[in-house]
Amino acid sequence: MLKLEHIGVAVKAFSESIPLFERILGTSCYKTEEVSSENVNTAFFQKGETKIELLESTDPNGVIARFIEKKGEGIHHIAFEVADIHAEMERLRQEGFTLLNETPKPGADNKLVCFVHPKETNGVLIELCQER
Ligand code: ZN
Repeated sequence: MLKLEHIGVAVKAFSESIPLFERILGTSCYKTEEVSSENVNTAFFQKGETKIELLESTDPNGVIARFIEKKGEGIHHIAFEVADIHAEMERLRQEGFTLLNETPKPGADNKLVCFVHPKETNGVLIELCQER
């Protein structure tokens, strides 16, 4: 893993959370993007080398909607940039971790991504991402 790439935050509504995070971070949201395969809208903020990714559900039964129902709004995942996502997935498999997808899938912000199951990571949902 190369570095912390972004922190994903589950929110109920961009109409409230984008202005909120613009006030917190003192910077404008530079991109919003729908990831239809995940039923989410994403909104990105850059601070130094690291980004904040807000996640808003587009489906009342989607993963983000269900996450908020169970735990409320808040940190959903942390994402690490990797140089070779296939190699990193294989390394984590060898270490005994469960990957939530068998092959890398297209994510927001022009990335290939894979998630590691939080049951074996002290409850932290970890995303691997590689620039496409
Ligand atoms: Zn993410």
